[in-house]
Amino acid sequence: MNTTYVPIEAPSDETDFLDGAEAHCRARGVSLTPIRRMVLAMLHCHPRGLKAYDLLERMKADKPGASPPTVYRALDFLIDQGLAHKIGRMNLFVACSQLCHQERMPGLFLVCPRCNGVTELQDESVIRALTASLAAVGHQLESQEVEIGAICPRCRELG
Ligand SMILES: [Zn+2]
Repeated sequence: MNTTYVPIEAPSDETDFLDGAEAHCRARGVSLTPIRRMVLAMLHCHPRGLKAYDLLERMKADKPGASPPTVYRALDFLIDQGLAHKIGRMNLFVACSQLCHQERMPGLFLVCPRCNGVTELQDESVIRALTASLAAVGHQLESQEVEIGAICPRCRELG
């Protein structure tokens, strides 16, 4: 049993996380600019995800000239680099809970319909099996984020 559940609720130390992201970018020959770093930091402190609008409002506190394209460009970069994910079902953006998507592996996201909590399921064997199974019938995932509606342990306990 090598399945590990990494609840997005429990972020690791922020500076370590951001430094790791910066190193990840450097290794790929791209740069985590201050704005991209700021957006990633905001996502990291809000494990349940933020909407682009929330990011813009928070960014404006620091950079009054920030506009929606500022936020979307930073998000596009973070998603391209595997540092963030878009949860389309909720229109939310979350930081990748690990710097694990260098290989552009799809991420599996459990979205709880009751509390809107998002958890990234870190199970490479499921992702590999899913990708292979889709390929066998000539399909390809449309995005790197696979969303699965699943009631979280806390909500299950509440009945
Ligand atoms: Zn829940």
